Amino acid sequence: MKTSKISGFYKLSLEERLEVVGGFANLTASEIATLKNTGGLSNGLADQMIENVIGGFTLPLGITTNFKINGKDYLVPMAIEESSVVAAASNVAKIAREKGGFTASSSEPRMIGQIQLIDVKEFAEAKEKILKNKSEILKLANEQDPVLVKFGGGCQDLEVREINTQKGKMLVVHLIVDCRDAMGANAVNTMVEAIASKIEILSGGKALLRIISNLAVHRLTRAKGIFNKELLGGEKVVEAILKAYAFAAADKYRCATHNKGIMNGITAVTLATGNDTRAIEAGAHAYASLDGKYTSLSHYYKNDEGNLVGEIELPMAVGLIGGATAIHPTAKICIKILGVKKASELSQVIASVGLAQNLAALKALATEGIQRGHMSLHARNIAIMAGAKGEMIEKVAKILVADKKIRVDKAKEILAKLSGE
Ligand code: NAD
Repeated sequence: MKTSKISGFYKLSLEERLEVVGGFANLTASEIATLKNTGGLSNGLADQMIENVIGGFTLPLGITTNFKINGKDYLVPMAIEESSVVAAASNVAKIAREKGGFTASSSEPRMIGQIQLIDVKEFAEAKEKILKNKSEILKLANEQDPVLVKFGGGCQDLEVREINTQKGKMLVVHLIVDCRDAMGANAVNTMVEAIASKIEILSGGKALLRIISNLAVHRLTRAKGIFNKELLGGEKVVEAILKAYAFAAADKYRCATHNKGIMNGITAVTLATGNDTRAIEAGAHAYASLDGKYTSLSHYYKNDEGNLVGEIELPMAVGLIGGATAIHPTAKICIKILGVKKASELSQVIASVGLAQNLAALKALATEGIQRGHMSLHARNIAIMAGAKGEMIEKVAKILVADKKIRVDKAKEILAKLSGE
């Protein structure tokens, strides 16, 4: 009987774990070799990054071209499994260049650290006492991270909120921490944990959760582009794009997919640079529903010349220090390709790619439909799934596209015919 209850799995070496998993799942020697290939990441480093490591998982890394942001040219690395995304971003970035490229800006990199206080008796008194001792609390928080303070960051402010929950009223303390070039989760979590007992004494309550918030409303990045109406395909296309945008702004079913298109770009660059994609996605979707209604992260309108203007604003907690950004060899190379020196600059590139991606999808959807652009790459993937190798992949894919039947069974038929079976 197979069992997944393996005592001391974590104590085994990577090879030993692979052996166990190989036995459990009947993996072949070639499958085991595939897992061992960590693609740019050494087995030793992979083993240090997370627990119970058995190998690596490699994604394609593409470069999206044509990006000019705040007057500077960028080649942007994207790690993603989905076809058409990289090409779509490059196309829109090319259109944006004609009007000078994207302009982008960021607020200061301030994150929120939360302390949940339960069993508070006197809310007004507790709040007053915490606020009265603000400078002492901030000092204690900053003592936890002298390096961050040295670089001009650190805990800068404190807020106290009362909230109603299904378990009664609670007090919530927010520490506002400038994280400079770090994403900041470790820095902020250390601070909130360090000040919690002081807050307990001041409030007379008990500190339960002490953790960063991914709804980084004080760490926003904005990007804007002007897109020539003729290059987009004419006035009719601009109108169609505006109607497609109106649909997303009004309807949450459409908006989820609209924002997903934005995240195609944002997540791919976030991942390529070793940043925390879950943190960015959680922040983005929470920000999209900040006013209680889930809506679009981007906005579009027509300017006086009839050209399309696109804007995006979202929380962008990415770093160049800490996490995997400074450890993962491929992420380090991606950051070198980008040539970004500050986390804020990286955030501006990511937001611009998100906007480009969004417009590419809107344009395709409002004109020819999304499938045409996807078809040839999708057909290649289907050909591979059917067993095509080498130059046969392209040959099978071409016939699938021409026949407009991009299915594995059709690919198998074509492959058999071409191979003379
Ligand atoms: P970190 O602690 O590894 O590095 C940040 C530290 O680097 C700072 O605290 C500072 O001491 C130092 N530093 C040196 N030069 C700096 C500079 N120029 N600017 C800023 N700091 C500088 O990393 P982190 O960013 O605090 O944490 C990021 C990691 O936390 C990610 O891997 C993320 O996945 C993880 N994480 C996320 C969450 C969440 O999002 N909810 C929760 C827990 C952990």
